Amino acid sequence: MDKRRRKFWGWGVEEADLTPEEQKRWVKRMESQFDLSGLELTPPPKLEEIELPQPRITPPDTLSDLCSSAPYDRAGHTYGKGFPDVVRAYERDFSVAPDLVAFPGTEQDIVNLLDWCSSAGVAAIPYGGGSSVVKGTEPDVGEGFKGTLSIDMKNIDKVLEIDETSRAAHMQAGIYGPALEGALKPHGLTLRHFPQSFEFSTLGGWIATRSGGHYATLYTHIDEFVESLRVITPSGTVGTLRLPGSGAGPSPDRFFIGSEGAMGIITSAWMRVQDRPTFRANAALTFPDFLVASEAVRAVSQAGLYPANIRILDAGEAYFNGVAEGDEAVMVLGFESADHPLDAWVSRALECCRDHGGTLEGEGGDSKTESRHRQGMAGAWRDSFIRMPYVWEALVAMGMITETFETAITWERFPEFHETVIGEMTEVMEEVCGGGFISCRFTYAYPDGPVPYYSITAPGKKGSQLEMGGEIKKAISELFLRLGGTITHHHGVGRYHHEWYKKQRPDGFGKVLEEAKRVLDPAGIMNPGVLIDPQR
Ligand SMILES: Cc1cc2nc3c(=O)[nH]c(=O)nc-3n(C[C@H](O)[C@H](O)[C@H](O)COP(=O)(O)OP(=O)(O)OC[C@H]3O[C@@H](n4cnc5c(N)ncnc54)[C@H](O)[C@@H]3O)c2cc1C
Repeated sequence: MDKRRRKFWGWGVEEADLTPEEQKRWVKRMESQFDLSGLELTPPPKLEEIELPQPRITPPDTLSDLCSSAPYDRAGHTYGKGFPDVVRAYERDFSVAPDLVAFPGTEQDIVNLLDWCSSAGVAAIPYGGGSSVVKGTEPDVGEGFKGTLSIDMKNIDKVLEIDETSRAAHMQAGIYGPALEGALKPHGLTLRHFPQSFEFSTLGGWIATRSGGHYATLYTHIDEFVESLRVITPSGTVGTLRLPGSGAGPSPDRFFIGSEGAMGIITSAWMRVQDRPTFRANAALTFPDFLVASEAVRAVSQAGLYPANIRILDAGEAYFNGVAEGDEAVMVLGFESADHPLDAWVSRALECCRDHGGTLEGEGGDSKTESRHRQGMAGAWRDSFIRMPYVWEALVAMGMITETFETAITWERFPEFHETVIGEMTEVMEEVCGGGFISCRFTYAYPDGPVPYYSITAPGKKGSQLEMGGEIKKAISELFLRLGGTITHHHGVGRYHHEWYKKQRPDGFGKVLEEAKRVLDPAGIMNPGVLIDPQR
């Protein structure tokens, strides 16, 4: 992991940001796109400007060495990295800061911390990399608690064992993406789970949120890579068996995968790893229209080809990301293997795409058998993907509303779903902001449906961004549910989607979750308000 100090208020490390030239370019772009003038970036917050509430709790002597009330730690564990988080950080509002931050180094430390929290009525909030965009780590737990303790897993971060025979690795939950891949690399292995937040997120966070990674098809979520888990709950430790598969009743692993810190703290997992790919084939294509491109994605998904990457960007998304001129949809397609050449797969996928109006970038050249993921449109998309978190923050600093919303829907409903979302959200942005821009890409695709990911940029007003963004968020969440989509495909539920998640899940299932929590967490201290209403 990058050892430079992380920003306490936003994405990345303190030194990293857009250059002044990049900032100017984005100001000009927003001004011309929305007919604005005089946009200025609010400077990022400084620690000395932040007024934190006094800590309400003191840890027992036996735990004091693990706990910090330092302003940097408390401010840094207040927010995740979503739009409302960055807005509040720029407004210098850290009023929901945790009272304390704990840095356990062992499982026993976690047991002791949870024992204290249970007996003292302190809410315990597991914290991985803090990259949640759904308020998953925010200590906003409502009434009924004596205080809040953010439990940062960063010191529980070792690779404990690698089993090259079964190709699995036992890793602790606090390990960050780069360190995890760094430890596997000398063995020729990889987890190949690369969410956009890879650099600043952890294995435990990925499992707790069912994060979506590198693979656009087949292994979309982290779930398939989890072989077994160890979880410390306030009622005791749960360890599941290492097995390649099991049909023995409902899966205990699956119960904790996606539990978002509401049932306990994941401390380690055996993860299925793979040989590093040696064969790669990439291509980029253009399509006259997004819905036409979506038909190509459906054809490839249903042909059983399972590309590692098949992302399509609508014309607006392609333009916004500097991938194309804004009059065509773009597809980035990629196959990889550690075992065999990919020509047959690529040829068949390109055939499906051409059948649906796709034109290969650099048609005529032999682009398909070499790795071109750092060149052309694919390379432009990759660069933009990495840079985008800094752009989002700069847009917030200008007073814009900028958010992303992801969902999933079956193919037969997708065209109407998409047209309705674009149409209604354009109207909503007009009402709330006087205008706005919505674009879409597919982040994942299944044989039975895609994962549309909508990006919204609209002119906001400093001081009112939260309310304006809140209206837009509410409108799109209601729309997703009304049209039969899910409130989230891979970002998790957190506190941000909780209201809609409760409407989406079957009632009976909600009750089962509540009962399970009562058994595992009798004092109701684990991440209150996430997945289950606070029970105190
Ligand atoms: C720029 C950006 C890009 C992103 N891209 C993606 C993406 O491509 N795919 C994707 O799926 N998500 C993405 N996200 C969302 C986020 O990165 C994921 O949800 C990620 O899995 C969170 O990991 P984390 O370690 O940062 O967890 P945190 O944000 O610290 O925590 C997330 C949730 O998990 C719980 N938790 C954390 N660690 C543990 C643990 N050890 N045990 C129990 N509970 C725990 C927390 O309490 C919280 O509820 C992105 C976010 C940002 C800011």
